[in-house]
Amino acid sequence: MKSSQSGHCTCTNNACPSWGDCRPCVARHRDRKEIPGCFFTAAGEKTYDRSVENFIKDQTCGVPMA
Ligand code: SF4
Repeated sequence: MKSSQSGHCTCTNNACPSWGDCRPCVARHRDRKEIPGCFFTAAGEKTYDRSVENFIKDQTCGVPMA
């Protein structure tokens, strides 16, 4: 059963078994040293690349952080 948060899930991979269920979603990406899709911009989320490197790129428009 999905959590009551499922209406707020912004991940476009709704075929994922963790879609709309924050606990397994966070655990899955934490175990992989990744970041859940809902932290990304809409464009960044659609890359399906949940790496920290892609998150930083997404949040800084590709501009390296000082
Ligand atoms: S962010 Fe990852 S684990 Fe969470 S719903 Fe999307 S694909 Fe699944």
